[in-house]
Amino acid sequence: MQADIMSMLIQQWQSVRQQCASLAAANGHAVTLIAVSKTFPAADIRTLYQAGQRDFGENYIQEWQQKCTELADLDDLAWHIIGQIQANKSRSVAERAHWVHTVDRAKIARRLSEQRPDTMPPLNVCIEINIAAEANKHGIAADELLPLAQYIATLPRLRLRGLMCVAKADSTGAELTQQFTQMQQLLATLQAAGLAVDTLSMGMSADMDTAIACGATQVRVGSAIFGRRQ
Ligand SMILES: *Cc1c(COP(=O)(O)O)cnc(C)c1O
Repeated sequence: MQADIMSMLIQQWQSVRQQCASLAAANGHAVTLIAVSKTFPAADIRTLYQAGQRDFGENYIQEWQQKCTELADLDDLAWHIIGQIQANKSRSVAERAHWVHTVDRAKIARRLSEQRPDTMPPLNVCIEINIAAEANKHGIAADELLPLAQYIATLPRLRLRGLMCVAKADSTGAELTQQFTQMQQLLATLQAAGLAVDTLSMGMSADMDTAIACGATQVRVGSAIFGRRQ
């Protein structure tokens, strides 16, 4: 990679990281920055890893598998799957990922648990919520949450960590706050039901600040770090 492109990537990452850290401090809770590397090459991931980034998010399983193989020497890199998982691709996710943010069906949860090797720690999972009840959007409705969460909590090789959402596109500031606040309330509902959940995965390049103000513990940032996707 050309030196100037590489230093631009690192600069953008440092700027997002600082922004994330100061928002986290202002809101009084820790926030993990997940660098969403979909469509960008393994070399970019390696560059950020060498600069200190550890958590990376990928959407497309086939693309991710290839990067995962290329980067197998980076021991403590944590892979976060943030796209849909087809049943026939669940095995590689169960065997190689650290987090899955997009569980929205009992069937996928059961397969991931069955396929998670005993030699690994339980797979961290979040349930994806379709928070603005949009047609054609992934995630479950808020009123379907409790039964799915209780089911996942019984699966031995998964560890239910919390909830994930993608806010409605073109939401106003007030609409974003409303969606993210509702996520916070849903997490509290699970805690009140006795589930040991601690994670709210919400906020992307455009709405990371609002998400953190509403309690996000993980933000998933792509274009603000890597640049615009093709
Ligand atoms: C692509 C993607 C992101 C990152 O989006 P940016 O707007 O590029 O920061 C975050 N979450 C999910 C689920 C995505 O698909």
